Amino acid sequence: MRLLLVEDDRNLNRQIAAALADAGYAVDRAYDGDEGQFLGETEPYDAVVLDLGLPGIDGVSMLTNWRRDGRKMPVLILTARDRWSDKVQGFDAGADDYLAKPFHMEELLARIRALLRRAAGHASSELVSGTVRLDTRSGRVTVDGAPVKLTSHEYRLLSYLMHHAGRIVSRSELTEHLYDQDFDRDSNTIEVFVGRLRKKLGVELIQTVRGLGYLIEGGDRKTGG
Ligand code: CA
Repeated sequence: MRLLLVEDDRNLNRQIAAALADAGYAVDRAYDGDEGQFLGETEPYDAVVLDLGLPGIDGVSMLTNWRRDGRKMPVLILTARDRWSDKVQGFDAGADDYLAKPFHMEELLARIRALLRRAAGHASSELVSGTVRLDTRSGRVTVDGAPVKLTSHEYRLLSYLMHHAGRIVSRSELTEHLYDQDFDRDSNTIEVFVGRLRKKLGVELIQTVRGLGYLIEGGDRKTGG
């Protein structure tokens, strides 16, 4: 999953970016409104963390512009503690969630997980396909109940495919959503990581759909529908 972080406070920007990277996300960082506006308009993000008070275009205007242009990614806004009117304006502009500063990083991470799984149509924070389970809270992956150790890139790839289980995901979509903008993207590396995941999780989990991409069968959406 690839996130955009727009925050002009350099210190806070660094802290949030580090926490997001630790949690396994690819993160692009912007420090002012114009840069944020441009990135959100041109890059495919899975979610955005958006400060409202920014040099250049402010957060609410940015969000309004994105929504007007049909950009649908979930957006969490960061607001000053007592500015309730900011929250109202933010939601009306198309925000999905908010967090008042100062906040606990754990809460920000939990809210982002919730936004990502809801955007992908999941109610549970545990994603299941066959014998493979991925707990988005702990980052733990098990096969038949036995924990499997994955590298951060392997985890990112698996998490993206499992969030989008039941849908064919192309290689170019994967490179766009797994790496930040500064990463030297080479779609061959996706194949390498798929190979490693198959070795660790079983060959049948990730199917190759020739000419189209990869597919993980949906596990947790088959029942109850
Ligand atoms: Ca600010």
